[in-house]
Amino acid sequence: MDGVTVIDHPLVRHKLTVMRDARTSTKTFRQVMRETATLLCYEVTHDLELEAVEIETPMAKVQTWALAGKKLVFAPILRAGVGLLEGMLDMVPSARVAHIGLYRDPATLEAVEYYFKSPEDVAQRLVIVLDPMLATGHTAVAAVDRLKEQGAREIRFVCVVAAPRGLEAFRAHHPDVPVWTAAIDEGLDDHGYILPGLGDAGDRMYGTR
Ligand code: URA
Repeated sequence: MDGVTVIDHPLVRHKLTVMRDARTSTKTFRQVMRETATLLCYEVTHDLELEAVEIETPMAKVQTWALAGKKLVFAPILRAGVGLLEGMLDMVPSARVAHIGLYRDPATLEAVEYYFKSPEDVAQRLVIVLDPMLATGHTAVAAVDRLKEQGAREIRFVCVVAAPRGLEAFRAHHPDVPVWTAAIDEGLDDHGYILPGLGDAGDRMYGTR
């Protein structure tokens, strides 16, 4: 699908298998989600701009490269997105963070906002939205709507598992926002859960069920 990158690196595929396995403990699930995030971070930042800098090593002056421009913003959708945030921050510790509190109304599956706090100058920064599961797409669409309202112009979306319906809905609403995912699954059940998926990512990460 146009604008969608599937990250099928063997390490990512292996880690996804561990997360899909219903026998995986909360501790391992959380750890592997964090590790997966570092690999996804590597991919989603592959084209960041660099600038030439001159520094001195202990041996000599050298012309080298450093990241250019304003720091990134990671925007986890609460609460499961926080599981990806940790690994992203391991890779880019100076990034800013925008927290987006949205839950899915269990009856309508529509996104309901309960919290939003972002750096004021998101308009000048690359914003990377994080949610392990792109299911119906409602939450992802609402999160990006909100960031755009706040002025964000350059946005990317990272998830671990996506459903075809959610991907289509998201890309239809936000064709300017590319998506990186580790897998595209078969579909959704009647409650909007991804099949085969990995279950409720938040519950599995935090041991709440
Ligand atoms: N959210 C989850 O945590 N899992 C799904 O399968 C869908 C949405």
